[in-house]
Amino acid sequence: MRASVASLGLLFVVVGLVLMALKIGYFGEFKILGYGFTVDTFLLTVSGLIVFVAGLALPGGPSVVIVTPKPKVKIRTVVACPSCGKFVSRRARHCPNCGRRLKP
Ligand SMILES: [Zn+2]
Repeated sequence: MRASVASLGLLFVVVGLVLMALKIGYFGEFKILGYGFTVDTFLLTVSGLIVFVAGLALPGGPSVVIVTPKPKVKIRTVVACPSCGKFVSRRARHCPNCGRRLKP
């Protein structure tokens, strides 16, 4: 909803600017800083801008929330016992199978 309101405003602005550039207007022309604007295209552009900003500022719009679930996998690093070959936890000081000392 929010995106459509904002895009509608943007459309107004674009159409207003295009009409302004083409100098298409049914109402009189006025000048701002040397540039001639037709009243209706100017109003269209300004109202489009307002709608655009209002559309962006509207609360409750759909906002994309990307949730990346953190894998709760406990990785147990294991090492092979050099004596018997059994996989033993890296933290183990001694091999539970053969009793060989793993850590100095
Ligand atoms: Zn062992």
